[in-house]
Amino acid sequence: QRETEARDRFKPAITTDGARVEVVANISDVAEATAAIDAGGEGVGLLRTEFLFVNRDHAPTEDEQVAIYSAMLDAMNGLPIIIRTLDVGGDKEIPYLRMPVEENPFLGTRGIRFCLTHEAIFRTQLRAIFRASARGPVRIMFPMVAMTDELDDALRIAEEVRAEVGAEHAEMGIMIEVPSAVMMAPELARRVDFFSIGTNDLTQYALAMDRMHPTLARKADGLHPAVLRLIDQTVKAAARAGIWVGACGGVAGDPLGARILAGLGLVELSVSIPSIPSVKAELRATSMEDNRALAGRALGCADAAAVRALA
Ligand code: PEP
Ligand code: MG
Repeated sequence: QRETEARDRFKPAITTDGARVEVVANISDVAEATAAIDAGGEGVGLLRTEFLFVNRDHAPTEDEQVAIYSAMLDAMNGLPIIIRTLDVGGDKEIPYLRMPVEENPFLGTRGIRFCLTHEAIFRTQLRAIFRASARGPVRIMFPMVAMTDELDDALRIAEEVRAEVGAEHAEMGIMIEVPSAVMMAPELARRVDFFSIGTNDLTQYALAMDRMHPTLARKADGLHPAVLRLIDQTVKAAARAGIWVGACGGVAGDPLGARILAGLGLVELSVSIPSIPSVKAELRATSMEDNRALAGRALGCADAAAVRALA
């Protein structure tokens, strides 16, 4: 089976009834951009840019970032990259940024909140992204957006930077990984071009279970119906606004999770590089009609175990 998956990894993920799902990669460096393509990835659905900032003693300069994003775009050969702006805080700490010591860092100044309070770092990164966008298709994504005012501030800054650089418009999107963003999805959807569901954080915040917790993390299953219902609500709001939805958390790389997410209406799944061939194979082996029915049953389950039992 693994041999077949590997052989067919460059074939698109088209279900038996003809529905296409884009399978793209989560990456964090240039070597992974190349590896993603070799594994059959159809682009990058999540570039975790915080990895450009770790294991060093100062932030990467604008030119350094341009070089890295450009090298990744070259490796993609015309396929798109979703560049997520710096997502630090919570479990992601960077010593030289002198981040505040917080009692509850997962509920603190993380993600887009950090960027909005460290605007120079944010503007430098956006300048680099817009400069690199001349090299290939770039989409920009903000992490941890919880409310419209944060998004409005981030979009205003991005537009100012774009105009300064003189770059073309880029598709703009946000991660949906905070329950309030799900509730505000209609308003958020009006402001952006796409959503990407971050199932790792959405699960942690929906179930109030720390994703790193030594005993609870095992129970914090992204296939819990509570999480699936939040995703369903998000997809419906996005559809009404006419924007597309993908996912980039761990659920997308799980064969059952991939089928359920596709069945809920997601058109792009961004997964870890080793999962690309198996997710594509799983989607090719099933019909969208069955996946929709499966998703419908999963939404009606009482717990994660019942959803897993549908496999
Ligand atoms: C997520 O939260 O699901 C996600 C993809 O982002 P990260 O794991 O980097 O927080
Ligand atoms: Mg996240």
